[in-house]
Amino acid sequence: MSENFSHAQITWDDQGLPHSPAFDDVYFSSLDGLAETRYVFLANNDLPARFAALPADGRLVIGETGFGTGLNFLCAWQLFDQVAPPGAQLHFVSVEKYPLTHADLQRALALWPEFAAYSEPLLAQYRAIHPGFQRLILAGGRVVLTLLIGEALECLPQLDAQVDAWFLDGFAPAKNPQMWNDALYAEVARLSAPGATLGTFTSAGFVRRGLIAAGFKIKRMPGLGKKWEVARGWFQGAAPAPGKPWFARPLRPATPRHALVIGAGLAGCATAASLAARGWQVSLLERHAELAQEASGNPQGVLYLKLSAHGTALSRLIVSGFGHTRRLLEALPRGDAWDACGVLQLAFDAQEQARQAKLAAAFPADLLQPLEQAEAELQAGVALPSGGLFYPDAGWVHPPALCRALADHPNIRLLTHRDALELRRDGADWQAWNGAQLLASAPVVVLAGAAEVQRFAAAAALPLKRIRGQITRLPKTSASAALRTVVCAEGYVAPARDGEHTLGASFDFHSSDLTPTLAEHQSNLALLAEISPDLAARLQVEQLSSAQLAGRAAFRCTSPDYLPIVGPLADAEAFADRYAALAKDARQTPDTPCPWLDGLYVNSGHGSRGLITAPLSGELLAAWLNDEPLPLPREVAEACHPNRFLLRRLIRGERSRAE
Ligand code: SAM
Repeated sequence: MSENFSHAQITWDDQGLPHSPAFDDVYFSSLDGLAETRYVFLANNDLPARFAALPADGRLVIGETGFGTGLNFLCAWQLFDQVAPPGAQLHFVSVEKYPLTHADLQRALALWPEFAAYSEPLLAQYRAIHPGFQRLILAGGRVVLTLLIGEALECLPQLDAQVDAWFLDGFAPAKNPQMWNDALYAEVARLSAPGATLGTFTSAGFVRRGLIAAGFKIKRMPGLGKKWEVARGWFQGAAPAPGKPWFARPLRPATPRHALVIGAGLAGCATAASLAARGWQVSLLERHAELAQEASGNPQGVLYLKLSAHGTALSRLIVSGFGHTRRLLEALPRGDAWDACGVLQLAFDAQEQARQAKLAAAFPADLLQPLEQAEAELQAGVALPSGGLFYPDAGWVHPPALCRALADHPNIRLLTHRDALELRRDGADWQAWNGAQLLASAPVVVLAGAAEVQRFAAAAALPLKRIRGQITRLPKTSASAALRTVVCAEGYVAPARDGEHTLGASFDFHSSDLTPTLAEHQSNLALLAEISPDLAARLQVEQLSSAQLAGRAAFRCTSPDYLPIVGPLADAEAFADRYAALAKDARQTPDTPCPWLDGLYVNSGHGSRGLITAPLSGELLAAWLNDEPLPLPREVAEACHPNRFLLRRLIRGERSRAE
């Protein structure tokens, strides 16, 4: 189990209130937690008036130190619900080192039955709360909660947001100096929007002095109950210096908020969903007769987490993306659209065994657990050649069902049989054309058609590769029904859906033909034999004739660094001219703005892990487009940014060569 992670250890006092023995402090005032929250955090930040004054497409960002039981969050949500205009959005970003377990959160929130309308949806989404950034979408996207799970001083520096109101709530300063120090106040100041305010329950002199030194004007206020005084503050400091222009936020596009999303696979449907939830009108263009006809069309995909113990950008993206997808799935019918049956990754050789041992030490047990062979067999329900790493909350998904659920929104218009071949600029709009036929136009276009995005001149230089993958569908037998989890070695096999198990998948870098081949069915069967000869026998694969082997093939689309490509696009030529000096000195940060192709964005390159990375990438794109808090650490968002390739080429002196 990870040395760095633990859930909150809570004791309950005789009134049933939660208490932290580690900090020897209460989560909320035992007298009247609600009145205190409303006064200290809501009133001192002037939120009743500020929420009410938001424009219909406005938003307010709250930042909190210490999510705890979420009481402050629920109070803010309730107030927002009561006074903010329809269409406005609340972003709540809260850092928490010791998240409560689901059971403890449920018990704590049961203390406030008046919040049931808010705590129930929060509890339903409070799943897969693993270390790093975890985004929860509530009230159809009207309320977005981003939990930063980890030490405040490690998480806040990774955050890219402009906070309008702060709730400083990290246990008593005398008992928790890690939450109350100059480094933390400097982060609070860095993240503050012009005119940001703060409320805190403490008026300790050293806290006030620290916040003043960081740029806040602080006023002591009379306290409630036993508290003498609390404090409120106003940010007086300047906006932080701009960073690297190629990763800067592009200007918010002109209204109307209308986007064309090209490609209705998982990346396109997720992008459409994230924009629609923010009030955008979305035209979702699809060349086929229906959505999810290509790589997102397999009967079962696996929530397969390929992690690194070294906290790479990809690994952090996977933990955050898995959490997000896992929470989205809660709204879909189990057994048909998905199942959280667990995923077992077998330790199939010594190298994999060593890798798994490192992962087991680096990640919490509720994300992954090492299992000995006998435990693994018990979990899987079939005989296995080895133990492995078990992901209890993962499972399989029917990707078309997730696509349909994402695209099912009154603001999304799915336009099928629309094969966009070319983009043209027309004033502030982009137009999608097929030969002489104008398909649609809007100020914003998101290219979400896997490697097909390269057909558009503006995205032609993106280094995307197609890798053919074929799956085999195996009819369920009475003996194969024993399989209880997804089992993976170099391939994977899932418990049956709709009478069939999916077995996958081949990798072919060269073929561009999508007709399923017998050779690849046979190579999939060889993968099955490695996973479990017992399961292969239960499936009676020996008796299946070639004609009975059915399946489908599609192209995965990957980038050279295996990270997806998500974000705004720049003009490659102008970029190379403008930043030519980087070829000589890569450490420069010129102040010339990036030559963005205004309104043009991409969401692609998800490889075989689109189920995990594509939905959160939709949120990331929406955050770039709406100038919102990013759902991922800044460094991870930059690692996914399309401009990374233009930069690398410049720095390597490869201006004119393709990647
Ligand atoms: N706002 C919470 C609510 O509405 O229930 C109450 C917060 S409680 C008083 C303080 C929280 O700060 C605890 O949940 C604790 O685990 C968290 N915390 C303490 N030290 C931390 C640190 N260094 N980094 C991140 N979180 C921390």
